[in-house]
Amino acid sequence: MSTHTLVQLTQKIRDIPDFPRKGIVFKDITPLLNDPQAFKMAIDAMAHQYIGQHLDLVVGIEARGFIIGAALAYILNTGLIPLRKPGKLPFLTHRMSYNLEYGSAELEVHRDAIKPGQRVIIVDDLLATGGTMRASVDLVKTLGAEIVGISFLVELGFLEGRSQLQGCDVTSLITY
Ligand code: AMP
Repeated sequence: MSTHTLVQLTQKIRDIPDFPRKGIVFKDITPLLNDPQAFKMAIDAMAHQYIGQHLDLVVGIEARGFIIGAALAYILNTGLIPLRKPGKLPFLTHRMSYNLEYGSAELEVHRDAIKPGQRVIIVDDLLATGGTMRASVDLVKTLGAEIVGISFLVELGFLEGRSQLQGCDVTSLITY
């Protein structure tokens, strides 16, 4: 992707200071989603790196990971697996807990969502400290998936979330 295009996309991400808590600068991607050209450019660029690789599934993390994941799955001709907050999935699930800056959180996946050996990518809108994606990797691995890659629209590089994801092929479109 050209520098010009990357700048165009970056301009569509809005900083919201002190959201959802004081001291956090929230990267709001809704202006990018709202712009048909920017949304398409972002999804096409994220998909590009996986074209020609055999993939079975895209795994998206609730909730913004569903938006990006669904678009990627459509382009890459794969199924889509949602990782959801507890209590949302109706069938039998596996659950993984992880630490947040304050407190902890959990994600669930349907037990029959992925067959052992299926080739998947996991996607989310943003990599911050890496705890959410680390838990997602561990959850997907309990089902025996082969994780081909991890893809983010945005990475907050200064938080060093990648250090949580060693051994995984991690890419992000826009890094701060
Ligand atoms: P982490 O587990 O710290 O990597 O946090 C990643 C998850 O929290 C992603 O699902 C993001 O959507 C969300 N998140 C964390 N920090 C931010 C931020 N500054 N702006 C927007 N979303 C964020």
